[in-house]
Amino acid sequence: MPLVPMRTMLDHAAENDYGIAALNVNNMEQIQAIMMAAEETDSPVIIQASRGARKYTNDAYLRHLMLAAVELYPKIPIVMHLDHGNSAETCFSAIEQGFTSVMMDGSLSEDGKVPSSYEYNAEVTKKVAQAAHAAGVSVEGEIGALGGIEDGHGAGLSEEEAQEHLTDPAQAEQFVADTGVDALAVAIGTSHGAYKFKKKPTGDVLKMSLIEEIHKRLPNTHLVMHGSSSVPQELQDIINQYGGDIKQTYGVPVEEIQRGIKHGVRKINVDTDSRLAITGAIRKVFAESPEQFDPRKYLTPAREAMKQVCIARMTAFGQAGNAGKIKPNTCKEMVSFYK
Ligand SMILES: [Zn+2]
Repeated sequence: MPLVPMRTMLDHAAENDYGIAALNVNNMEQIQAIMMAAEETDSPVIIQASRGARKYTNDAYLRHLMLAAVELYPKIPIVMHLDHGNSAETCFSAIEQGFTSVMMDGSLSEDGKVPSSYEYNAEVTKKVAQAAHAAGVSVEGEIGALGGIEDGHGAGLSEEEAQEHLTDPAQAEQFVADTGVDALAVAIGTSHGAYKFKKKPTGDVLKMSLIEEIHKRLPNTHLVMHGSSSVPQELQDIINQYGGDIKQTYGVPVEEIQRGIKHGVRKINVDTDSRLAITGAIRKVFAESPEQFDPRKYLTPAREAMKQVCIARMTAFGQAGNAGKIKPNTCKEMVSFYK
């Protein structure tokens, strides 16, 4: 089946009370890992690429990798999503490349670093939503600012500073009314990257209660959790066991994400866990078999390790078993929906 709009997939998730992992890709092995996991668990998938990923791969390679996934897995609905578009132009260029969903992150100014004004955010997100919807492409916006920094985007806020930029539920409601986004990323205390929390997060630093409040005000908007890798201890340990140096850190517990899914969270961004799995597997081969120099010898276990992370998340979020239940459509067929 062709790439599907994200709106279609998230609507199905909302109707059936599950969440979908949005998994980042930068190369062929990562796309393969996601698709192998999706096939094994019968999961619909959101594959997302950041600006950094588009620069690293080149849009042409990325587009053809996505088209290969579509060709090889005709029964799996796939969304191709732009993660953290920093400007309307970035979103429009993604739409030209065939992305079926874009995130306009106007919570930061165009440099992708400094928190912006509400007015700027609402204006640029509305502009993107109008143009994207005219093409049937789905749109995610963001209100509030997350901690951490990744791929050159993010305000680089510390865990403590991020607490000052949490999403205001009333403003979230206004933002959706002003922009018409399909999905809304909210700031509840999570950060991008591996270093999210200095200790296992409690309700003081990870404000899941905020999700519940926002969902009450916006029952028809799909909520998105960014920076939601769980940063499992065993993945940190493998890296450190084989010569790495990951400082002790804590991610977002899967149980907390499951609580979010009960309250309107439909898209959960997971990137760090894949990176940790890949790096741990490669380090293990390098340490145990230093005579190896064939990239396939370490990329095969790396791909397998990421696949296992994908399977675990797809199962925990409830998307497993739903690929065949989604009635796929195209962006073109979505155009009339937005009129
Ligand atoms: Zn993000």
